[in-house]
Amino acid sequence: MEKKISKINLKKQRIRTAIFSGICISRQELIRQTGFSGRTVDNYTNELKRHGLILEETAEGQRGRPGIIYRSNSERIIFVSVSLFTGKLCFAVIDINSYLLYSNVLIIPEPAPSTDVIRLSLEEIQNIRNRFPDMAVAAIGCNLNTYRQDSRRSLQFRELVKILRRLYGIHVELMEDSELVFRRLYKSLLLKGNAGLFVPGHLHAYVITNGELRNDLDGYFRNFRHRQIDRAASEICGICGRRGCIESLLTYDSIIRRYLKLTGKNDHGKYGDDFTYNNILIQSQAGAPDACRIIKENGIYIARAVAVMKKELHLDHILLCNSTHLLYRSLLAEYEKLTGDTTPLLNFSYLTVSDTVYTAAELMRLKILNL
Ligand SMILES: [Zn+2]
Repeated sequence: MEKKISKINLKKQRIRTAIFSGICISRQELIRQTGFSGRTVDNYTNELKRHGLILEETAEGQRGRPGIIYRSNSERIIFVSVSLFTGKLCFAVIDINSYLLYSNVLIIPEPAPSTDVIRLSLEEIQNIRNRFPDMAVAAIGCNLNTYRQDSRRSLQFRELVKILRRLYGIHVELMEDSELVFRRLYKSLLLKGNAGLFVPGHLHAYVITNGELRNDLDGYFRNFRHRQIDRAASEICGICGRRGCIESLLTYDSIIRRYLKLTGKNDHGKYGDDFTYNNILIQSQAGAPDACRIIKENGIYIARAVAVMKKELHLDHILLCNSTHLLYRSLLAEYEKLTGDTTPLLNFSYLTVSDTVYTAAELMRLKILNL
């Protein structure tokens, strides 16, 4: 399972690296180092110039012919992130060395038309540009946290990404919160090969191959959600009609339903909106038997789900998110039984909101600099 980075991107990367790794480089030297044609080099350097990442100068050649020199403008580059968490729009600006230059949080007035997400973001990004008038925005990372997010606002945020791309013509990337944490960890842990993340509750699943997040697996994961992981379960999926598929057992709603059924509190409406998966986790940490039973069961179900993912997608690493000790122990036992694999799975806790706001900008920095 290999995913190739497009040839164009590889070429762009090599040109950026050659210019950024030195302070300046001549056009001739750039052609020599990269092996690209003059035309290819001109195409990509024009793009970098347009975005303010490099400057072009002319220098007197030794034989009288003026030569072109490209100079890295790295001291004057900034990376911006925009994040949406329920009612808050968060912004961060970092420089080439990852120093935090500015951050701000706007509270979206309640009840505000959802278009306010776009208007407020565009105003704040303009404000950032005014604040740093001689700096070039190299890329914008947009981070969407969908947990308890109003669906119209989510849509507006996705629309914002398109508007920013049109308006500024720079690299603008949309990331979901858990995807962003996964990408950061993959880099921090120096992982290689195929790594997969499965987030129970949201049922988000992601795979990174050689550092790049796979965007060709949507079809696979749509199907994956309906794999049967418990033939004996009493839950029957309303979508696929199977008994005990991943979706019918491991979404936030299904976990809460299973818990309420076990405890005899069948009135979902009564516990509905305020009763969250977190309540069950907290109760299980306090030792409440019903909550413990659900969490242990979740461990078994998650193990079965990730074992399928590991086999079918040839994963070298599996990352787990927000597993408590109880969940992790039951998960590992089942996972070992299924796969014979005794290496512990990597388990991490979510980053704080401020961490992810910063990380969205940091991932843009790593991307533009090929770090
Ligand atoms: Zn199903």
